[in-house]
Amino acid sequence: MSCYCKERATNPKLADEMKEIPNGYCGFCEICGKPGHMCAHPRLPTTGVWCDEHWEELVSHRIIPLGDIAQYIFYLLIVGMFIYSVFSAWKDFS
Ligand SMILES: [Zn+2]
Ligand SMILES: [Zn+2]
Repeated sequence: MSCYCKERATNPKLADEMKEIPNGYCGFCEICGKPGHMCAHPRLPTTGVWCDEHWEELVSHRIIPLGDIAQYIFYLLIVGMFIYSVFSAWKDFS
C-alpha cells in the first residue's frame, strides 16, 4: 500500500513530526491506537491511519465508517423524495 513511510524516510520535517511513531510505521490507528500506516481509504475519498488488522477489515468491508452511513442516509433521502414526488404527482393527476 502507498503510505507515508516513504515520505517519512525522505522528508526530515515530516520525520521530526513523526518521531513519536515507532520505526516502520507512519501513524497511529484511528480505531485502536496501535501503530499503523497513513493511507487513502479503500472506498471513500479520505485519508486515515489504520493498523494492519483494521486495514484488512476496511478492505474486507467489515467496518462501516460514519461516512458510509451518511452516504446511505443520503441515498435513502433521495429515494424517499423521489417516491414522494411521484406519489404527489399521481395524486394531483387522479
Ligand atoms: Zn487498529
Ligand atoms: Zn507506513
